[in-house]
Amino acid sequence: MADLLIENITIVTMNEKREILEKYAFVVDGSLIKDIGPSELIKAKYKDTKKIIDGTGKIIFPGLINTHNHLFQTLLKGLGDDLNLADWLAQMTFPSSAHLLPENVYDASMLGCVEGIRCGTTTQLDYMYPHAREGLSDGVVNAFKDLKIRGILGRGMMNIGEQFGVPKAIMQDLDTIEKDCYRLFDTYHKTENDRIKVWTAPAALWSNSEELLKLAWRITNEYDSGFTIHVSETPFDREAGKEIHGVFDFDVLEKLGIVGPNVLMVHCVHLTPEDIKKAKQFDLKVSHNTTSNMYLASGVAPVPEMLKAGLTVGLGVDGAASNNSQDMIELLKHTALLHKVYTQNPTVITAEKVLEMATIDGARAIGEEKNIGSIEVGKKADFFIYNPALSAKSTPMHHPVSTLVYSGTHACVETVVIDGNIILENSILKTADEYQIIKRGQEAADDLSKRAGTSGNKRRKWRSV
Ligand SMILES: [Zn+2]
Repeated sequence: MADLLIENITIVTMNEKREILEKYAFVVDGSLIKDIGPSELIKAKYKDTKKIIDGTGKIIFPGLINTHNHLFQTLLKGLGDDLNLADWLAQMTFPSSAHLLPENVYDASMLGCVEGIRCGTTTQLDYMYPHAREGLSDGVVNAFKDLKIRGILGRGMMNIGEQFGVPKAIMQDLDTIEKDCYRLFDTYHKTENDRIKVWTAPAALWSNSEELLKLAWRITNEYDSGFTIHVSETPFDREAGKEIHGVFDFDVLEKLGIVGPNVLMVHCVHLTPEDIKKAKQFDLKVSHNTTSNMYLASGVAPVPEMLKAGLTVGLGVDGAASNNSQDMIELLKHTALLHKVYTQNPTVITAEKVLEMATIDGARAIGEEKNIGSIEVGKKADFFIYNPALSAKSTPMHHPVSTLVYSGTHACVETVVIDGNIILENSILKTADEYQIIKRGQEAADDLSKRAGTSGNKRRKWRSV
């Protein structure tokens, strides 16, 4: 007896041997993967399974793991195009952040997570850093809960940085942050069958005092949790870190003793070879956000060097304000192509490695490799069924990993299962009303841009140069 059996399908397992199993079947019971084997054998063994899906011509991949996001920014798509970072922050992102209401964060998170689900993303690590008013983080968690996805709320924080242009309105003092961290950890951490977790997420080394960074690290370890922070996204980050803490931003972590396998550094575009060596030594993890780095022209992260050094590198879409989408399938292709062109070496990164980064390495980056990231008996049932026949783009298929990475499209993501629950089936969202989510998303974006004074961006002048 089992809850779900998917028969006659190709499974891209991402297990230790990286097996790709053809004409296999796959059984889910409760939230776990119960059995995997040749289709005929499994069908004979689980005759009275509650639900059977025919997988002929289709592929199962482990759910994609998005290691970095700012879901509130889903409402900001298209408002900050083609600007340099300082203008992008001052004209659009900061004013929008200061006017966020709790319901805006919820609507944005629902919209962003639905886009993610449609791209095969089953785990989101959201980094909610602006706190102009209380209760903004709850909107993110409520969206995770309502859609039944796997999610980590990174409780963002910043208490300094006015000299660098951070508006006072989105900062908080230490006591307020501490109180809210404890509230969020006590309310949500390891809830919903362990699908929801809470991490600490100081925004940057230069926007947090030493005292606050140490506090965040203490709370992280009290709750057996994770710590994520933007590191060396731009040369400015390094210099500003030095101005505040006396050493470059990456070195602040070592200086304060914030080092260990539960530290996830985001971006790391400007890490030096020495930094990479140290990061490996401390087993720090990296979230690589290719599309965002290209969109903001932050530079090209030394990912081939990180991989060579043995660092764990996961992938992130980043907030939609610096990507304009939440599409992890698009991110796979961007990641492969960026490093090829930058090094002028087409062999520097492979489709297979990119898929590892989005699945098993991503799981390792967030400390969840025992539970997710591959299709193996005993692991959580987080996966998606890809049907290449749904799009000319994915046809013909010769190799499933090549198809997903280089010819992939969300249009072929047919069914998504998270924690054993069917979230998307035959391209229909099962856990919420998608039409309403999209409608509310547009309304919330219009309302926020009006209140934040960014609506002028919608009628921007034509800019050919
Ligand atoms: Zn970010």
